[in-house]
Amino acid sequence: MKRIVLARRPTGAPVDDDFRLEESPAPEPGEGEVLVRVHYMSLDPYMRGRMDDAKSYATPVPLDGTMEGGAVGEVIASNHPNFKPGDFAFGMFGWATHGIQPGDVLRKIDPAHGPITASLGVLGMPGFTGWFGLTEYGQPKEGETVVVAAATGPVGSMVGQIAKARGCRVVGVAGGPEKCKMAVETFGFDECLDHRAYADGAEMRAALAEACPKGIDIYFENVAGKVLEGVLPLMNVGGRIPVCGMISWYNAGALGANAGGDKDQLPKLWRMILVNRLHVHGFIISDHFDRFADFMREVGPMVASGQLKFVEDIAEGLENAPRAFRGMLEGKNKGKQVVKVI
Ligand code: NDP
Repeated sequence: MKRIVLARRPTGAPVDDDFRLEESPAPEPGEGEVLVRVHYMSLDPYMRGRMDDAKSYATPVPLDGTMEGGAVGEVIASNHPNFKPGDFAFGMFGWATHGIQPGDVLRKIDPAHGPITASLGVLGMPGFTGWFGLTEYGQPKEGETVVVAAATGPVGSMVGQIAKARGCRVVGVAGGPEKCKMAVETFGFDECLDHRAYADGAEMRAALAEACPKGIDIYFENVAGKVLEGVLPLMNVGGRIPVCGMISWYNAGALGANAGGDKDQLPKLWRMILVNRLHVHGFIISDHFDRFADFMREVGPMVASGQLKFVEDIAEGLENAPRAFRGMLEGKNKGKQVVKVI
């Protein structure tokens, strides 16, 4: 089997030398375990955090350890009654061609229900994140205005489409004119602003104010940085901010001293939360998988009918995973970033 390990901890943005491709014999499944030949693996922003040796909600990947990640593939050996060779399963197999997990923690995937890659994006952890954060902490109501950045990714595109389905005005923020076009034409956003066109939070704010004439009721936080700076002063009284991610700061080293240019703004921005009585709610989706069945009940049929759209960006070959990962952190991915491993 082949796997990609963490060769060293990155300083700032990851580079190729932070990863290493290794080969070893395929492992044998133990009692209750299942061996899977991975077909597709997911690349997600949280993996950047796992590369740092910093206190967080999850333990870091150890040096020389396999990079962590979700993947989907075919069962080739099983010591668990629920799985037999030929079944497809999703699990945390890491950046590798093969993976072993206890059968109890695997999710069976039926290829008859659509492309198996959907289990990594629209009908997997990221889609669930968008749905859960918006419905649980965003509480969208008809006629309200919702803003979400990383609008064409699997989280943002879910947020936008569910908010539209609930009768909201949805304004996306994305990197570049092509992604903005995709947000409006493919995902049905009312408008989308290209964050690269604005130099700072003040410019971002002016553009958002025009796109959101009735103010902002829900800001689904994916990126922080100048988008957050732009949004906060436009929040309506009683507005909600599900805090899902802050990707513009992920390369800043555990959000430490180099966390970004808007530190001087902090008192002003923090005050907005008080005067506008905002509900700011951070969440980590792994705490909420008890709601996954509810998500599948609502969103599964929307995907099957084509009402809810999804776009995937598929890189070829495990050896290209680091490059695709670096690209995703820079916004080069068009839709959910996946790697075809087989
Ligand atoms: P995406 O596929 O959308 O990929 C990340 C995107 O972030 C890039 O394509 C880019 O889009 C955008 N981005 C990168 N840098 C910046 C920047 N400096 N300013 C603005 N945008 C930037 O990712 P996901 O949909 O998988 O994840 C979206 C967010 O949700 C992330 O912050 C992630 O960490 C978070 N998340 C949180 C979870 C939780 O449990 N709380 C679970 C899953 C995801 P563009 O080019 O359009 O700017």
